[in-house]
Amino acid sequence: MIGGMNMQMDWNNLGFSYIKTPWRYIAKWKNGQWEKGELREENYLTIHEGSPALHYGQQCFEGLKAYRRKDGKINLFRADQNSRRLNQSARRLLMPMVPEPMFMEAIKKVVKANEEFVPPYGTGATLYLRPFLIGVGENIGVHPASEYLFVVFCTPVGAYFKGGLKPTNFIVSDYDRAAPNGTGAAKVGGNYAASLLPGTQAKESDYSDCVYLDPATHTKIEEVGAANFFGITKDNQFITPQSPSILPSITKYSLLQLAQERLGLKAVEGDIFIDQLDQFAEAGACGTAAVISPIGGIYYKNHLHVFYSETEVGPITKRLYDELTGIQFGETTAPKGWIQVVE
Ligand SMILES: *Cc1c(COP(=O)(O)O)cnc(C)c1O
Repeated sequence: MIGGMNMQMDWNNLGFSYIKTPWRYIAKWKNGQWEKGELREENYLTIHEGSPALHYGQQCFEGLKAYRRKDGKINLFRADQNSRRLNQSARRLLMPMVPEPMFMEAIKKVVKANEEFVPPYGTGATLYLRPFLIGVGENIGVHPASEYLFVVFCTPVGAYFKGGLKPTNFIVSDYDRAAPNGTGAAKVGGNYAASLLPGTQAKESDYSDCVYLDPATHTKIEEVGAANFFGITKDNQFITPQSPSILPSITKYSLLQLAQERLGLKAVEGDIFIDQLDQFAEAGACGTAAVISPIGGIYYKNHLHVFYSETEVGPITKRLYDELTGIQFGETTAPKGWIQVVE
C-alpha cells in the first residue's frame, strides 16, 4: 500500500462488478430494537430458510458512492438523502427505520475500513456502497418479518464512461416495472425482478435498456431502465417526469437544482408524452450508477427517434455532467450540505 491505495488494482479498467473488499457493516433488529452494529470480514450471510426477504420480497436497498478528491480526502454525495429514501422504502414494506445517525456511521465506517479500495483521483472510478435492509427470521405466512438485518458493503467500480460520454439507444417496453399505486417509488428488489425480462430483451436487441411508460395509460415516459429520464427542450427547459411510480432519484433532484441555479435553465417536473419527443434537443438518463448517460435515440412503434445525435453528447448534457461530477469529486463548489467528507 502506497498513499492509502491498493497497488494490485487496475483502477482504469474496472467495470461494474463485485470485487470483495475486506470489511462490511452488519446490524440486527430484534425484539423491537437495533442491536449494536459491527464491522465484519465474512461476506456471506446466514439467514433462516423462511426469511420473508427470500419469499415475499421484504427487502429494500440503496446505492451511493465515495469519491476520492485531488487532496486525497474522500467525499460522500448527499448520503443523508439515501438515508431518508431507505426509510421511505422501509415504511412502504413495513420494515423498521434505520436512524440517520446509524446509517451515516455505517457508511463512514465501511469507507474508512476499506479506504485502500477508494480509487485514486483522476481515474473516474469510485467506491460503490450498497446498504440494504432485509426481513429475516423463522416464518412461512405472509406478514412482516420478526427480525431484520441492515448491511452495508462496498466494491470499487469503474468510470461509467471510459473515453468520454457516449450516447446509447433505448427501446420502449410493453411491460411495466411497477403498478400505478404499487412500489415504483420504493427502492425494492421486486421492481428489479420485474425488470429483468424486459431489460434482457432490450439488450438482446442491442439497446442499452428499455424505457418504461406510465403503467396506467402507457403514454408518458417514467424510467429509463434503472435510471430517471430528463430532456432538454429546444427552448432551454430541463424537464423530468413526475409520477408516483417513479423512483425518486437523488441525482435527478440534484440536476433539477443545478440546471436552474448554475445553467440558468428552467427546471420542471411534469408529463413527458412519448409521442411528443420532438420538443427535446437533448435527452439523458441519470442515477448514481449511470451518472448522466446521454440518450442517442428511443425506439418506439417501429421508429427510432434521435435526439441530439447517436454518436455525440449534446452541449447541455455535457455541462450538467461536468457540473455534477465536479461537485462529487470536490473540484467545484457544492451547494450547501451536499458533500460530507469522510474523516
Ligand atoms: C436507484 C434508482 C435510480 C437512481 O437514483 P439515484 O438516487 O440517482 O441513484 C433511478 N431509478 C431506479 C429504478 C432506481 O432504483
